[in-house]
Amino acid sequence: MPEVKAGPETKVPFYGHVRQYHGIQKEIDTAIRTVLESNQYVMGPALKEFEKDLANYFGMKHAAGVNSGTDALWLVFLALGIQPGDEIITTANTFFATAEAAWIVGAKAVFVDCDRRTYNIDPSKIEAAITPRTRAIVPVHLYGLCADMKAVSEIARKHDLLVVEDNAQSIDGHGPGWKQGDFSDAVCLSFIVQKNLGTFGDGGAVVTNREDVDAAVRRLRNHGSSQRSMHSFGFNSRLDDLHAAILSVKLKYIKKWTDRRREIAARYTLGLRGTSLTLPYEPPGNRHVYHLYVVAHPKRDSLESFLLKAGIDVKLHYPIAIHQQAGYPWGKLADPKPHVPNCEYNAATCLSLPMFPELTDEEADYTIEKCIEWDRSQT
Ligand SMILES: *Cc1c(COP(=O)(O)O)cnc(C)c1O
Repeated sequence: MPEVKAGPETKVPFYGHVRQYHGIQKEIDTAIRTVLESNQYVMGPALKEFEKDLANYFGMKHAAGVNSGTDALWLVFLALGIQPGDEIITTANTFFATAEAAWIVGAKAVFVDCDRRTYNIDPSKIEAAITPRTRAIVPVHLYGLCADMKAVSEIARKHDLLVVEDNAQSIDGHGPGWKQGDFSDAVCLSFIVQKNLGTFGDGGAVVTNREDVDAAVRRLRNHGSSQRSMHSFGFNSRLDDLHAAILSVKLKYIKKWTDRRREIAARYTLGLRGTSLTLPYEPPGNRHVYHLYVVAHPKRDSLESFLLKAGIDVKLHYPIAIHQQAGYPWGKLADPKPHVPNCEYNAATCLSLPMFPELTDEEADYTIEKCIEWDRSQT
């Protein structure tokens, strides 16, 4: 079957969803067929199996599948007892859903600036943002690099705050000498198709060592029910068995896929060294999983259109910082004017090059070649 490309002129696509499917097609087809024949499509054995696989993978006690990464975040906020009016500290240079999840539960999103090199929350700026209403810090492991969880958790402990990891982009990553979940109350995952572990649709999960958080998320995702016909209050946010079965297959490949992403990243970095592009930074001891390979340049828009014209499908993550979105400010739900110059600089200069495990060396080399060509034309 021919692959559907982003456009007729596309030489290097941004995503490789169909390539990935073709690489493991037999296993995926078998997994889907098994669910279809099982007669159990919601809260069935495939979901249980995947939750067990995922908890084992993280080396943590519990994993609960939910409908999306966004739901994972706000269901955890509810599970942790976050109340309307509480404040949640995060960054403005993340996907919109991180702040949206705070707003959904009526909490205020407070934006702390990011570090200029890692793009992750700058721990040295967190304490100045803490008020008597602060309840939680939500570091985002942006682009595939873990935030400095040691520093974040030290601040959290000192001020008695909860920590929730937005790990939508960085499954399989780790920090120097620590893993995801070591310093937090819960780890939230997204399985939407374009994430490093993605299904053919939407999905998410909450991984935690806290029994109470796991139990609350399980109740909340299923109409407040932990027993048939018995309800408290909740929502409908379950992970379908079809997606769970697909994810169990894909989870087995995640390390291999990350290794290939890192190989491509090393190729980009080697090839683009010496240009005027700012390249991703991996602090020593980290495993960057390169959900995105993001370069930065003050003339980003020019580079973007040059590459698009050359048939290279590049994207921007994220060109509008959350506090600069049209609907902002959201009444009492967010800072009116946060001082986050690094987040704003990031929004104005970031550019994501094609990055997925099935990208070929030739495609990466062509992308490098065109970046160099643009760079030379600038002087
Ligand atoms: C994708 C993403 C989310 C939301 O996940 P969905 O599954 O799309 O709801 C949240 N935070 C970050 C950082 C993301 O990249």
